[in-house]
Amino acid sequence: MMPSARSLRLSTLCLHAGTHLDKATGGACSPIFTSTAYAYPNPANENIYPRYFNTPNQRVIACKLAALEQGEDALVFGSGMAVISTLLFAFLKPGDHAIFQADLYGGTHQLVTRELVRFGIEISFSRDADDFAAALQPNTRLAYIESPSNPLLRCVDLAAVARLGREKGILTVIDNTFATPINQNPISLGFDAVIHSATKYLNGHSDVNAGVVVSSSAVIRRLAEGATNLGGMLDAHSCYQLERGLKTLALRVRQHNENAGRLARFLQTHPAVARVNYPGLPDHPDHAIAARQMRGFGGMFSFELRNPAQADRLLSRLRVVMPALSLGGVESLICIPSRTSHRLMTPAERLRAGISDGLVRVSVGIEDVEDLLEDFTQALAEAGE
Ligand SMILES: *Cc1c(COP(=O)(O)O)cnc(C)c1O
Repeated sequence: MMPSARSLRLSTLCLHAGTHLDKATGGACSPIFTSTAYAYPNPANENIYPRYFNTPNQRVIACKLAALEQGEDALVFGSGMAVISTLLFAFLKPGDHAIFQADLYGGTHQLVTRELVRFGIEISFSRDADDFAAALQPNTRLAYIESPSNPLLRCVDLAAVARLGREKGILTVIDNTFATPINQNPISLGFDAVIHSATKYLNGHSDVNAGVVVSSSAVIRRLAEGATNLGGMLDAHSCYQLERGLKTLALRVRQHNENAGRLARFLQTHPAVARVNYPGLPDHPDHAIAARQMRGFGGMFSFELRNPAQADRLLSRLRVVMPALSLGGVESLICIPSRTSHRLMTPAERLRAGISDGLVRVSVGIEDVEDLLEDFTQALAEAGE
């Protein structure tokens, strides 16, 4: 029998929390339960069905993430966007107002500005805790944060936003994808709900699309009703792959943190680089906030080339680091946000958001960091010619 999850540390929880031990064989891993039809009545007196989000493999992920994020319960979905859309539609109704962070993930920005407003929901955008307080209205029901944000790695004072939410009775939600539960636990800072695109660090191997939400039992019960109607569940095989990835989460994130810190400090001193955006660097505008609320600064950073025309050449000359969309996998990936995540914005909008054409975003993998340093050294030298 597992000791109480509260007494165990993160690396141990990654491995053991939620595992469905197989009494028939004594196997060490959760079996994959492929059924979509389950008998009733059953010992739990519960109707089990994949779209009810309660199959054994879905529960393994939910229990593991609830333990890692210090929540009471969780649900696993077929994508990060399935979590975000289900949560927003479950908790907002026509006439409600919600406040979103200004530099949202592109998919969430599209969902909010294209879909949510069609249902008569009012939205505002804000940048920091003071901004959030100023945006409050009598009909505000929800505040939605990303910290660190994409691609400038801005951090919001989470305890301040959580306090505001408690005082005003509004649901506080954070997309914790960039930080992972290893580096940051927003529920322990007072947040109501934590969501993840599990496609990124949680699975960590760039081969599963999934999402997770962790919260109180009451919030999860309400979300499960909405989720059953919207139908964005994850199948048993993908749950198993995600469980396998999660076992090494703490180990991977430690290496992501270390490699990103080394690479960010190296690029900061490189003559071709104007600025590096990484919350672990003392000159980052939100370094003090990040140091207070994060255990590690994560594997994501961005940097600005002095000469924007070098960006394409840099990407084509890297040999280890791969130009690609997405992030959070074991392999290092690089992209130019003005061409990828932020390409739908006008140049003026991008400028306002601080996204220049010479801005490059890196998802630092777990390769030997010396190989990454050498790769950037040679690619920047050649790109400068
Ligand atoms: C990728 C991502 C999402 C969306 O997740 P999907 O799994 O692609 O649906 C949401 N938020 C952040 C911060 C992401 O990086």
